[in-house]
Amino acid sequence: EARMKRIASSIRAIPDFPKPGVTFQDITTLLLDPMAFRDTVDLFVESYVPGRSKICGVEARGFIFGPPIALAIGAKFVPLRKPKKLPGDVISEEYSLEYGTDKIEMHVGAVQPNDRAIIIDDLIATGGTLCAAIKLIERVGAEVIECACVIELPELKPLEANSQITNLRTDFSN
Ligand code: 5GP
Repeated sequence: EARMKRIASSIRAIPDFPKPGVTFQDITTLLLDPMAFRDTVDLFVESYVPGRSKICGVEARGFIFGPPIALAIGAKFVPLRKPKKLPGDVISEEYSLEYGTDKIEMHVGAVQPNDRAIIIDDLIATGGTLCAAIKLIERVGAEVIECACVIELPELKPLEANSQITNLRTDFSN
């Protein structure tokens, strides 16, 4: 449909970033096109019914797409952050990177048992980040209804590598 075309053409691919051989999908050009940005948010919002209690955004670009979606459906927004950023008590989940490990953290009490959460990020590559986010939310007894990303890099087969990701929704495969 027309909205999908506008969104897809507003995303810029930058070769050899952050290192040679990697093509980075840059959503900052989508943000410079207000109609494409609005359409991106609307496409997610249209598929959500009220009753999803929490939108959990993954740092950093989940903080761009998550809040407008949360406001539109009347849900609470929870930031899932890189280590040592949140000031209160946190629970954290470690995950593997190509070299080494990373962590994401969430404030204790931000997500409650029986919450129905949607996780938002801009892009899924290996799926490691989303998988850690799912584990974090499930550890406190909440349910992850959906993981929603704007872009998927399917050649990395993120769903084969991460059986926890059972309900992924992406608008574009690049
Ligand atoms: P994964 O854990 O699935 O391998 O990587 C996904 C995370 O890395 C997401 O938080 C995403 O923002 C970031 N990321 C990895 N590659 C890209 C890219 O090409 N473009 C953008 N915008 N983000 C990327």
